[in-house]
Amino acid sequence: MSEHRSKVLILGSGPAGLTAAIYAARANLAPIVVHGMQPGGQMTITTDVENYPGFANVIQGPWLMEQMQKQAEHVGTRMMADTIVKVDLSKRPFVCTGDGGDTYVGETLIITTGASARWLGLPSEQKFRGFGVSACATCDGFFFRGKEVAVVGGGNTAVEEALYLTNHATKVTLIHRRDSLKAEKIGQKRLFENPKVKVIWDSAVDEVVGTSDPNSVTGLKVKNVKTGALSDLKVDGLFVAIGHTPNTELFRDALDMDENGYLLTKAGTTRTKIPGVFAAGDVQDHIYRQAVTAAGTGCMAALEADRFLAGQGH
Ligand code: NAP
Repeated sequence: MSEHRSKVLILGSGPAGLTAAIYAARANLAPIVVHGMQPGGQMTITTDVENYPGFANVIQGPWLMEQMQKQAEHVGTRMMADTIVKVDLSKRPFVCTGDGGDTYVGETLIITTGASARWLGLPSEQKFRGFGVSACATCDGFFFRGKEVAVVGGGNTAVEEALYLTNHATKVTLIHRRDSLKAEKIGQKRLFENPKVKVIWDSAVDEVVGTSDPNSVTGLKVKNVKTGALSDLKVDGLFVAIGHTPNTELFRDALDMDENGYLLTKAGTTRTKIPGVFAAGDVQDHIYRQAVTAAGTGCMAALEADRFLAGQGH
């Protein structure tokens, strides 16, 4: 078991964490970034990125994150892989403990743990997760080449996932609980014009149906939320795209959160209620949730940590 000390400790390695690291490293603060099971965050499970400024041609999400990590390392960031299971923010320096017992001690802490996909909460969904039920079309779409799939949700993610899946599947059914989508109009237009896509309105997935041993999805029971009528839909896979939950469980007792668990920061800053603890990226932003906004708040957090340390005489 080892102890790793830093003036700036950053939890999470998505665009927010790595941008914070680049700025902190360039301020000679030798940051440590602790990343968990998914280094690079949600961008590593996207494919085409065409809205991150600076790239005239389409780039790939995993490539962008690789570049950000190399950039952070080149300027002096230490990347460490661990799963933090405990945090002590009751006094400075702040102490985070990994599942193997290693401790990470920071004079300041920047939380950029992001958000994870939300699930419907059906027992049958749980049973078939990884066996036909997925929350990432770009990760698992390939397995449904020549098959029929359904997507649940009505936001940008659901529309993007449905469109992406048309590259692999023969038919994509979007199931949405209301009679209109909240996704951007340009995505909706592409969706409605795609001959492989069918939309089932005012409906919810009631059950995922399949075979056991080995687990495999064969269909869905779909409920019309207005009439209560149940119908069967034959599909080989279900993609759940109903939004995200912030990864803030670790901070439940220490920091203020909104009713959905997003960390609260003082308006116009990344400051939490504990001096020296900052939050950036999707963990504190349920509105914009873009790589570029996450990077922007990551930059703010590093500048604020630097200012905080200067105020403490570091
Ligand atoms: P979202 O905008 O919150 O949409 C979630 C969708 O899932 C909504 O349509 C919602 O229905 C539905 N939903 C929620 N809980 C449900 C449940 N239990 N059962 C069935 N349906 C449920 O989430 P998102 O699409 O992941 O997008 C999140 C943010 O990221 C948005 O700001 C979005 O614009 C952004 N984003 C941007 C891009 C891009 O710019 N390229 C791509 C992806 C995401 P209701 O409509 O009834 O609320």
